[in-house]
Amino acid sequence: MVWILTSLFFCWLIFREIRGSIVPRQGYDQPESIYKPYLFSCLILAMSFAWPPYHYWRFERFLSAKATELADFNPAKVHCSTAFDSIFDREPTFSHANPTNGEIVIQPPLCARLMDYLDHPDRANPYELHSLNTFTHESMHVRGELNEAKTECEAVQRNYRAAKLLGVPDHVARKNALEYYYGSYMNLKAGGPNAVRYFSEECAPGKEMDEHLSDSTWMTIEASEY
Ligand SMILES: [Zn+2]
Repeated sequence: MVWILTSLFFCWLIFREIRGSIVPRQGYDQPESIYKPYLFSCLILAMSFAWPPYHYWRFERFLSAKATELADFNPAKVHCSTAFDSIFDREPTFSHANPTNGEIVIQPPLCARLMDYLDHPDRANPYELHSLNTFTHESMHVRGELNEAKTECEAVQRNYRAAKLLGVPDHVARKNALEYYYGSYMNLKAGGPNAVRYFSEECAPGKEMDEHLSDSTWMTIEASEY
């Protein structure tokens, strides 16, 4: 919001400068000629401040389309929340989704981390993999699952599919999805505040929560162990 308002302010300065070259300003008899360096500077600043919101708007549209696909074509609408938006959010700490209307809110800085991940998936760090899993997890809520442990397990099995949908090369997507499963997910086993809610011993290849997806994150594990 602040970025857009700042950009609009510079647009107004541009408008005022051009208008001043056509209509005399108050207290002047004649229009003034445009001062080109000033106009050019205002234009650059207006575009610079407009770029981040435009970039995020495009990213949100991209994520919405991919989340819809992940959610078995239940319509999803992703919003990359900002610190300003969080003030009005009832759940400002966690990303969340509404299965009724398909709205997904991804809290900062996870959209930025997801962008970073997509820039260099082969060098993904645990925080970036967490942002990928959050995107998949919230898409599973839109798909209709409300139980957090089941939702998380569905996400774990689909992180490979999600990464590929987002444009990550096949072998890197598989590696990233398995890294999340063996890393962050398995770390929940040791306990912690989220363990009871999000972790299940049944979330493993061949166990109760295994959906046996044809493109499961676990496919290579299943192939080698069963
Ligand atoms: Zn959840």
